[in-house]
Formats: sequence, C-alpha cells, structure tokens
Amino acid sequence: MGTRALGPGLRSVLWVQGCPFTCRGCMSPQWIPDRRARLVAPSELASELLHDSRVTGLTLSGGEPMEQADALAEMVAHARAERDLSVLCFTGYRLEQLHADPPNPGVARLLACVDTLVDGRYVAALDDGRGLRGSRNQRVHRLNPRAEEANEDFEESPRSVEIALEGPTALLVGVPPPGLLTAFDTAVDAVRARLRGNPGAANGARENLTERTGNDER
Ligand code: SF4
Repeated sequence: MGTRALGPGLRSVLWVQGCPFTCRGCMSPQWIPDRRARLVAPSELASELLHDSRVTGLTLSGGEPMEQADALAEMVAHARAERDLSVLCFTGYRLEQLHADPPNPGVARLLACVDTLVDGRYVAALDDGRGLRGSRNQRVHRLNPRAEEANEDFEESPRSVEIALEGPTALLVGVPPPGLLTAFDTAVDAVRARLRGNPGAANGARENLTERTGNDER
C-alpha cells in the first residue's frame, strides 16, 4: 500500500525499530525500544516496497533510520536497480553530526543515496503544524533531490494524513496537523468501547506510524 502523505508522489514507507532519542511528544513511541522487530533481507524488503508499480519514492522513518544505515543503503540500491526512486529520510540526528561523528560506519553510504533529509529531534513547543517536518527546529536538506522532490515545499505545505483500516487495525500515516492525533485517539477509543464485550471482534488497535523527530528530552 503506497501513501501520498509522507512526501511527493506515491511512496512506500519504511518504519525501522529502535531510536536512541526519546523526544517528548514523539507520536511513534512504539518504534523507540531497541528490540528485535521483523528481520528481513534488504533485497527482499526492496521487492516488498516496490510491489505497487505506481510507487515513485521511498520514505525512511522510524525509529531512527541512521541506526540501520548500511542495511537501508543496501535496500535502496536493490530498489533502484529495479526503478528510479526518490528517497526521503527522517532522522533525529543533525546532518553535521552524521558527517563528523556518525553513529555507525554505514551512515555515509546511506546519506549518499538520500535525496532529501529532514534532520533534528522533535520539539513539541516548536510544532507549528506546517510542512513535513514535525517542528520548526528541524531542517530540510536537499542533498540530491529528484525532480519531484525539488518542487516540494517540505517546510510550509499544509499537512495531510491517511488513515487506513485493515481488519482490526487503524493505521495513521503522515504528519498530523494539531488536534488530529487527539481526534484519532478518541475515535479509536470509541471503536474499542463498542467492541468491548464482543471477544470475537478484535480491538481497534492504534498503530501510530507518523514520523516526528526531535526533542531534547533524552
Ligand atoms: S520523534 Fe523521531 S527521533 Fe524523536 S524519539 Fe520519536 S522516533 Fe526518535
């Protein structure tokens, strides 16, 4: 399933498990623990992300993509061997740190294949509800943008989200404008309340997968 809520065009999004930061207000806290999630070979993952032939871009989020940089770079190489794709990556690190003191040797390889990087940790007080960056302190680096990303206003464009319902799971994708996350949680709670007492029906589980990065709370 592709999305139009996390970057230009139709994109496949990858959320990696594990993040060294603990930003207050992170809306993807389930991705923070450094625990084993799904293990998959880069080539296999690339095939999955290209399953939809209309996909023209990849968005790397999490969690912290730079913690798994080498494997992600390999995945992107496999994907680009099949299709010309733009790559957008969110990171809680600053670009300067990634160059000067990278958390692992694979970072340079991943940066070399990222077109647009959104850097810095999420700071709730600086969330102005605009653009694909979660808060104003985060910066957009156009490292090597493809045409579709070069024309994208990552800083000021209105935000949008997609909510996909798959069986018992409500999946929210995108960077939500102020108030939407609360409304989403309220709706999921209402569904749970209705299903309570009906064990055959699964709970309306919230999978909150939007990327926001950055906060000094560590
Ligand atoms: S906002 Fe991003 S960088 Fe911050 S804790 Fe959450 S996943 Fe990590």
